[in-house]
Amino acid sequence: MKRKAVVQVLTPKQDEKPIAPLVEQMLTLLGEDPDREGLRRTPERVEKALRFLTSGYRTDLQKTVNGALFSVKYDEMVIVKDIEFFSMCEHHLLPFFGKMHVAYLPKDRVIGLSKIPRIVDMFARRLQIQERLTQEIAQSIQDTVDPLGVGVICEARHFCMMMRGVEKQHSGAMTSAMLGAFRTGKSTRDEFLSLVGHRLNGS
Ligand SMILES: [Zn+2]
Repeated sequence: MKRKAVVQVLTPKQDEKPIAPLVEQMLTLLGEDPDREGLRRTPERVEKALRFLTSGYRTDLQKTVNGALFSVKYDEMVIVKDIEFFSMCEHHLLPFFGKMHVAYLPKDRVIGLSKIPRIVDMFARRLQIQERLTQEIAQSIQDTVDPLGVGVICEARHFCMMMRGVEKQHSGAMTSAMLGAFRTGKSTRDEFLSLVGHRLNGS
């Protein structure tokens, strides 16, 4: 079963109503004085930050890839490790951040290496949960490059857990998405995991 492009996801209403007045109202409700010097321009700054942090909704995958697909006879695993990302958890609107490791096994073409971090950013700059972020990155590479398989591992720490004391400061969450040969082929998956330096599935 081939899942259809992940690219449509959640297009926000484009009427672009200002967010700043809502932030000002929130500051008041939190017991603050929005007119005091330090807060005077905060609503506008928060709006600008939020629009940037959710700019992935307005990023087009095809434009991001911009034709950087190249036909080659190359059948070794391509891996990009330690891609830094910053995202926002959709449950608390607090950041989660970490590293993404992306690999694929080319069939008859490859994608420009610099495009992979840009695809990561495109999906990270939305309201997310870590599991879906991992899955969407894997699926979009599968759909775009059409390789034999894709593997994505995501290691992240969540402010909503760290700041609220739900978890110890240094604990993190790890998610993975394995498609095609990475799902069906143990040796492919093991090669990926050893290149990333992880042991999953108790293998
Ligand atoms: Zn959260």
